[in-house]
Amino acid sequence: MAAFNLAGLITAAADAIAAHAEELTALDQAIGDGDHGLNMKRGFEAVRAEAEAFSAKPLPDALKAIGTKLVMTVGGASGPLFGTLFLALGKEISAAPDRANLTTVFGKAFEAVAARGKSQVGQKTMLDVLQPVHDALLQGKTAPEIADIADAAAEATVPMKALRGRASFLGDRSIGHMDAGARSTALLVRTIVETLEGQP
Ligand code: ADP
Ligand code: MG
Repeated sequence: MAAFNLAGLITAAADAIAAHAEELTALDQAIGDGDHGLNMKRGFEAVRAEAEAFSAKPLPDALKAIGTKLVMTVGGASGPLFGTLFLALGKEISAAPDRANLTTVFGKAFEAVAARGKSQVGQKTMLDVLQPVHDALLQGKTAPEIADIADAAAEATVPMKALRGRASFLGDRSIGHMDAGARSTALLVRTIVETLEGQP
């Protein structure tokens, strides 16, 4: 992974979250409490502030440091869940991961988030994006395909009824809106795969 530039990846992720913070807030306002954009922006700006230090570490340690920072700074329900995602990735990933390692590790990270959230696919959460992305990795999809699959998966949460998180308090009234955490997850997936591909 000589070309792998973690600092660049962190910058791209923080930029994407900052650029879409208002959109994430609006989604969370519709069926939650409207803090998701701010939560994610606070967390990713905190990670951005440490980008150099984190990227000097071996990849597993860097991912664990990112996860810990997100747990400490994002807050809400999503902070521990995004934190768990990165912590779990860091726990299992090899220092120079190939596609097979990444796919296995991503599957384990998905399981860790599901366990932490006591949630499963179909409940209108970030898991509804993570699972199709894992499937796409297993199926050997290309980076642009994975980015599109993530976007479509976030869109597919619109007709779902929320069964976890604050949106679940609304019952049927949660139907017809995209889940904020699914959207932020798709945004991160697109940013990461496009950055790894050397695209804008
Ligand atoms: P809060 O709901 O505490 O205000 P955020 O607004 O930051 O926290 O995050 C809300 C998002 O977190 C939801 O859109 C959903 O995707 C995700 N989420 C909430 N609870 C769970 C859960 N139990 N399992 C998986 N994801 C969850
Ligand atoms: Mg919220």
